[in-house]
Amino acid sequence: MIGCDCEVCSSTDKKDKRLRASILVRSAKTTLVVDTGPDFRYQMLRQKVKHLDAVIFTHPHKDHLAGLDDVKAYNFHAKKPMNLYADSLTEEALRRDFYYAFTDTKYPGIPELSLNTITLDPFMVGDIPIVPILVWHLKMPVMGFRFGKFTYITDANRIDESEKEKIRGSEAMVLNALRKQKHISHFTLEEAIEMVEELKVPKAYFTHISHQLGLHAEIESELPDGIHLAYDGLELEFT
Ligand SMILES: [Zn+2]
Ligand SMILES: [Zn+2]
Repeated sequence: MIGCDCEVCSSTDKKDKRLRASILVRSAKTTLVVDTGPDFRYQMLRQKVKHLDAVIFTHPHKDHLAGLDDVKAYNFHAKKPMNLYADSLTEEALRRDFYYAFTDTKYPGIPELSLNTITLDPFMVGDIPIVPILVWHLKMPVMGFRFGKFTYITDANRIDESEKEKIRGSEAMVLNALRKQKHISHFTLEEAIEMVEELKVPKAYFTHISHQLGLHAEIESELPDGIHLAYDGLELEFT
């Protein structure tokens, strides 16, 4: 956190250096990211991502959208618009926040975007099948996504019974866990552990972690078997 000198913010452990929540999903033919937060540009530079086919969005909060402008680098390399997938709520925010990319009189150097509206119906991006999962961020609907054996959920504090069915059977999942103290719109560490245990997903990685949670190494050692804190640069492979 800007201006904070707590033990996490001043830690020298690389795993305590967290940028905004996002993942990159890659198959043999297709590469996509989930969300473009304010750190999107640096994340793509750091991971040396040369090619990107699409962005899919979870919800319209700024920490998940703000970096979208930088997809223009991929427009430049691929010479085509970036495919975006968002529900109607997020689409509204994208059109508002990035109005200059959606006008008829486009000036040079702005991102070229091709917007696809998604619902809860499964869809494909290239050869990657995606099942949207509705979760709740207080009163805001947020899209979680299942990619085959893997489920990604961020910014939730409630999941309806019917949507839990879509997660069951996953080999691994990412779930948000903000801190130990109660929060109005995010799962706490304890709530996230309970959710993973209820869903019986054998491997889970927590994301969207606040500096208030504590040091990575200390919290990691308190977690039940199969549950870990995610960290920037973590890679998971599914065959
Ligand atoms: Zn701090
Ligand atoms: Zn968020």
